[in-house]
Order: sequence, then C-alpha cells, then structure tokens
Amino acid sequence: MQNIFLRRGVGLLLCVCGLAVMLFAVAADDPTRGQAVAARAERRRTLVIDAGHGGEDGGAVAADGTPEAEINLAISQRLCMLAELCGVQTVMTRETDEIDYPASAETTAQRKKADQMQRVEQINAVPNGVLISVHQNCYPTASPRGSQVLYAATADSEAFGTLLHEQLVQTLDPENRRVAAPISRDIYLMRNVQCPAVLVECGFLSNEQELALLRDPGYEVKLALVMIASYLQYWTTGWVT
Ligand SMILES: [Zn+2]
Repeated sequence: MQNIFLRRGVGLLLCVCGLAVMLFAVAADDPTRGQAVAARAERRRTLVIDAGHGGEDGGAVAADGTPEAEINLAISQRLCMLAELCGVQTVMTRETDEIDYPASAETTAQRKKADQMQRVEQINAVPNGVLISVHQNCYPTASPRGSQVLYAATADSEAFGTLLHEQLVQTLDPENRRVAAPISRDIYLMRNVQCPAVLVECGFLSNEQELALLRDPGYEVKLALVMIASYLQYWTTGWVT
C-alpha cells in the first residue's frame, strides 16, 4: 500500500519536473513567453526550510517521549535533500538540534524568543525567499489526526498553502477533511516574515498510528516529496509577486 503512495509521490514529482522542462521548451520557441520565463529566472526563488523548535525548545512531546523538534528536523533534512536534487536553492534555519543563543538570553523563555527573532532575521535576509516551516500537531485526546497547512498573511501564501494542503490530502491521506487555513497572529515567526510562508503541521503526535507514520523514514520522504512537488508546481504556474 505504501509503495503505491510512494510511486504516486515520485510520479507527481516527475510530472512536475517534466512540466517545468516543457515550459522552458515552449519558451524557447515563443519570444514573449521566453522573456517572461527569463524574467522569472532572474528572480530565482530560494526555498527556506524551517525545522520548527530545536535546542532547548523540543516543541510537543509524543507519548513515547519523542520530541516534535526531532521529527521536524528529520522531515526538513529530507525536504532539503530532495529540493537540491531538483535544482532548487535552499536555506535551512537549523541543520542540527543545536541552537546558538545570544549570551544576553539567560532564561529558557528568553532563549526561545531570541531563537525566533534570529530565525525571522535570517528568513527576511534571503532574497526572494519562500518559507516552509515544518511542525507536528498535538492534542489532549488521541483521535485527531491528519496534516494541515497554515499560511501567513503575506502575498502568495494562501494560494501556495492551499495547493500544498490539497496535494498532501490527495497523495497521502484522502480521508483528511481538514482545509488550509490562515495561521494565528500569535505565531511570532509567521507574523514577522515578509516572504510567502506556510507552516505544515504534518500530523498529530498524540495519535498513535500517525506517530508511527511520522517516525517512519519512508513516510517522511513522502511528506517531503509532496512539499517539493507542490513548490515546483506552484513555481511553474507563476508567483504573484
Ligand atoms: Zn511546533
């Protein structure tokens, strides 16, 4: 069953890459189209991958003790690897579980705040960035499950987030009835970044079956595949900004 999904994910990625090649081929024959594609290439985007939490902030914790930060980093590393395989320029806000906190931040709360401020600064310094922030959900009861994409208020975020959410549902979880939604203004990082930005809640750590999936390297690759395929698909249809 999982192999079918993986093949579907790989198929989706290959289709998107094929579409990109076709668009460039068409552009070569059509001067107007060629100019548009060239202009877009000049504004080459960089995918900024934010593995949520890390350092002293483990995020949510699963019943078996697995911290959210660990799963976020594993999925983000796979996303980065696939993105680079597709020729997409990437930046990661963290590549390990270590965070460099400023000496002035003395308490855990101050360090968490400083980390978020550093990430916002890093993300906003990337020219033509597009942010995917990777997180996991958690709930007091075990039944909720399923991924959900939350999008920032910046241009392109809603359209990209909606596409990504639909692809996650279609490819990995057709029973999922959640929809992409605007993110709460309480989330400092998502409120302060200036680029198109989405936060992917990949699944619920509080659901035993979903936790097993989220800890499965094969499933993590599938999640990353859908993210990069959706990124490429949205890129080929043209960004608004
Ligand atoms: Zn989180």
